[in-house]
Amino acid sequence: MLLGVSVKLIDVEVDISGGLPQFQIIGLASKAIAEAKQRVAVAMQSSGFELVPKKILVNLCPADMKKEGPQFDLAIAALLLKNFNYVKATANFFSNSCFIAELTLTGDLKKVKGLMSFILDSVKLGVKNIFLAKEAEADLQILKDHPELLKETNLYLVKDLKELVTALNDQAVLERFSIKNSRCSDNQQENNSKDINSDQVLFEDIIGQSQAKRALEIAVAGRHNLLMVGPPGCGKSLLAKAVKSIVPKLSVEKALETQRIRELASFSDFNQDILDIPYRAPHNSCSPVSLVGGSIPVTPGEVSLAHNGILFLDELAEFNRFTLDQLRVILDNKKVALNKGIYKYEYPADFILIAATNPCPCGYYGDLKRNCICSMKQIQRYISKISGPLLDRIDIVIHLKRLDTKERELLSKASSGITKSSDILQKIEKVKEFTKKTNLDSSLDKESRDLLARAVESFDLSARAHTKLIKLARTIANLDFSKNIKQEHLAEAIQYREDFHI
Ligand SMILES: [Zn+2]
Repeated sequence: MLLGVSVKLIDVEVDISGGLPQFQIIGLASKAIAEAKQRVAVAMQSSGFELVPKKILVNLCPADMKKEGPQFDLAIAALLLKNFNYVKATANFFSNSCFIAELTLTGDLKKVKGLMSFILDSVKLGVKNIFLAKEAEADLQILKDHPELLKETNLYLVKDLKELVTALNDQAVLERFSIKNSRCSDNQQENNSKDINSDQVLFEDIIGQSQAKRALEIAVAGRHNLLMVGPPGCGKSLLAKAVKSIVPKLSVEKALETQRIRELASFSDFNQDILDIPYRAPHNSCSPVSLVGGSIPVTPGEVSLAHNGILFLDELAEFNRFTLDQLRVILDNKKVALNKGIYKYEYPADFILIAATNPCPCGYYGDLKRNCICSMKQIQRYISKISGPLLDRIDIVIHLKRLDTKERELLSKASSGITKSSDILQKIEKVKEFTKKTNLDSSLDKESRDLLARAVESFDLSARAHTKLIKLARTIANLDFSKNIKQEHLAEAIQYREDFHI
């Protein structure tokens, strides 16, 4: 059973005795589970396995935990098949096996939510065999690519109850259902489509905005949160989209964490390479629940779907104030804790926040060509929504200007200084290696200390902001492959802080 992304194993016991024929499930089962007895009974009958009329008692342990969801169907059916002697597999085999699937009335196996969590935690607990629905195969591609993740556990995929019975009656047949031997027919096709990513934006596709590009490079290299401020049409959304092209692929471990969360949200995109970083861009009208998670059944929100990746919030000031408040807490904790009844659900939410906002409600405050029509009061109210505590969690603020046609022409002709996404990506990967291998020094020399002291005084920085400034300077030094933070690194970091007044 799932609690957030972690799994609690539930023992299923079956007792069959004489007496009045009846079928009962006990052990704090929810309505969906109580209905399992009908599903299981009909599925077995339509697959040709008669249930002899006897007194059947199914117990789910531990009994003090409320059980939910239809994922127990297969385990109950498997044990009944064993107890009615349809399968030869030993009791020992059963006690080392997990059966996780829902049953249809015709006896077909259906996949259930959160499979990756079930599998990985069962592997951790040393479960020998796991039986799942064949239809889950496409979701498990990463396990096929990395069979070492399964350690000593065997994973079997079966289509229906009849296949399960043949597999459980013959070791040689069983092997055929192992995920190692299974072939996904449209696998090849899927791999091909991964390369075609039509909406990909590259840095070289965006004219000008070199300061913003540099800031995004720093944000990705050091996992810093960033806010872009500028009028409509200056390219904020496009730049945010292009960030995807400079983020290194996920490690297998990180990809699995992400996959666990996606499954719980019933979100899968098979065209996406599983090692691609998650990128979520919820609209500003999204509810607190869809951003943070919750609801019934408890589902992870956008912040968790963005875990290990990027969360892009466009028009930040248009988000609900309560939603932004919750976001602040998540940025501190890097996880979401939700309470439901006696259970606590926890979802990871460690992402880079890329946010964008207009400088005022009309969008043109400070614009050189168009006049802002907002009153000072309106502007203050607009900005106050994101300033203060939320702004304190943002490391880099950049202001963008619109380019006019002439500037565009000039810049697009000057192709020499254009930074390419692939070059930045390569650099960021090198920086990763550099920081792993090098003994980095975050201390400052005398001149830098003076510079920092002046910045703290003139911007009235909090202790938190002070620490963040040094971290930012460290990232900039990393991008320069420098062991020490030099004055120029700190100066650049301060410049992203200078712009904090919106
Ligand atoms: Zn305005």
